[in-house]
Amino acid sequence: MILTRHSQQQLMKYMSLDQKGKVMAEYVWIDSVGGVRSKTKTLPKPVKSVDELPEWNFDGSSTGQAPGDNSDVYIRPVAMFPDPFRKGDNILVLCETWDSDGTPNKFNYRHEAAKLMEAHADKHFWFGLEQEYTLLGPDGWPYGWPKGGYPGPQGPYYCGVGTGKVYCRDIVEAHYKACLYAGIKVSGINAEVMPSQWEYQVGPCEGIEMGDQLWMSRYILHRVAEEFGVKISFAPKPIPGDWNGAGLHTNVSTQEMREEGGLKAIEAAMKKLEARHHEHIAVYGEGNEERLTGRHETGSIEKFTYGVADRGGSVRIPRQVAKDGKGYFEDRRPASNADPYQVTGIIVETLCGGA
Ligand code: ADP
Ligand code: MN
Ligand code: MN
Ligand code: MN
Repeated sequence: MILTRHSQQQLMKYMSLDQKGKVMAEYVWIDSVGGVRSKTKTLPKPVKSVDELPEWNFDGSSTGQAPGDNSDVYIRPVAMFPDPFRKGDNILVLCETWDSDGTPNKFNYRHEAAKLMEAHADKHFWFGLEQEYTLLGPDGWPYGWPKGGYPGPQGPYYCGVGTGKVYCRDIVEAHYKACLYAGIKVSGINAEVMPSQWEYQVGPCEGIEMGDQLWMSRYILHRVAEEFGVKISFAPKPIPGDWNGAGLHTNVSTQEMREEGGLKAIEAAMKKLEARHHEHIAVYGEGNEERLTGRHETGSIEKFTYGVADRGGSVRIPRQVAKDGKGYFEDRRPASNADPYQVTGIIVETLCGGA
C-alpha cells in the first residue's frame, strides 16, 4: 500500500505508542511448499533465551500441513532474533512443526538435520550459503524488465552499478540492514548475472545454526519486499532460455579440512559425494533439472564432477584452497529453493554416516 503523507503521519502516531512492557513475538514456521508463515503472540515481558518461549499451535489444514479433522500443528521455538520490523524488545521466533501425536510434522526437516549435527558435532562442520533470488514486479515478471519483453543480454548486470544495470538496490540494502539488526551472519551481497537477480551470503555458521539463520533471512526478505510491493522468487530457473538460473551454493568445511593438510580430507569428501550424487540431487531443490544443464556456470545434473576453480562442475575447490592445501569446498548443485536443513543434513550424513 502506498501511503499518503497524511496517512503516514497517522500511522506514526500509533506506531510510537508505548507497548507497556509487553513483547510482540512473531512465531515463524516453514510451510508445506517451502514458504514461510508467521503469527504474533504477546508475551508478558522480555525474554533472554529461547527456552523461556512457550510452545504454540496453528491450523495446519490451512497450510497443507495437516488434515481438517486433526488440524492442530504445534510450533516449538528453536531460535530467536531481535525483530528489525518492530524493534525494541520484540522478537522473531523460528519454530519447528510437530504433530499432535508427538512426531515431527512431515515438513519439519530440521528435526533430522539437528540429530545429524548433534551426532557429528565433534567434526565442527561449518557452512556458508550463497542465496540467489529474483525480484518480481506485481505482474510476476522480473522487476524493471520491459513489460512482456526482455532486457539486453547478460553481461553488464553482475555486480552492476548504474541505471539500467542494476535494479531494486533499495530493497536489497533494506534486507541487508534488517538481517544485520536481527543478528543474521550475512557475510556479503552482490547483484547477479541476470538483471533483478541478487545474492546474499550467510555464514560461516556451525551445524544446525546454518539452516536456522538462512530460513530467518528468507523470512526477512519476504517481509521487506512486501513493503515495496515486490515479490521474491526462489525458483531455480525463473526465466527459461539464455538467462542464468538461481542457486544456493553450499560452502562446507570440517575442522580437519581447515587444518594443515586439510586438502586430503576435501579430496576424500569428493569420493563420498560422488557415490551419493543422485541422493543429493533428490533433496537439492525442485525444478533443479531446468537449472543444472551444464551451461550458465552449472554442472550437469546427471554426473558428479569437481575441480579447482571450476564453475562448470558439481563441486568447486577454490583456487586459494588448493594453493593453501586446506580450507573448504563449494557444492554448487543446490537450487535456490532448496531447504538448507536437508542440504546441510545430507552433506553431514554422506561425509560421516547417519545419526
Ligand atoms: P563465490 O566465489 O562462490 O561467489 P562467495 O564469496 O559468494 O563465493 O561465498 C563464499 C561463502 O563461503 C561465504 O558464505 C563464506 O561464509 C563461506 N566460507 C568461507 N570460508 C568457509 C569455510 N572454511 N567453511 C565453510 N564456509 C566458508
Ligand atoms: Mn557468491
Ligand atoms: Mn552467485
Ligand atoms: Mn558460489
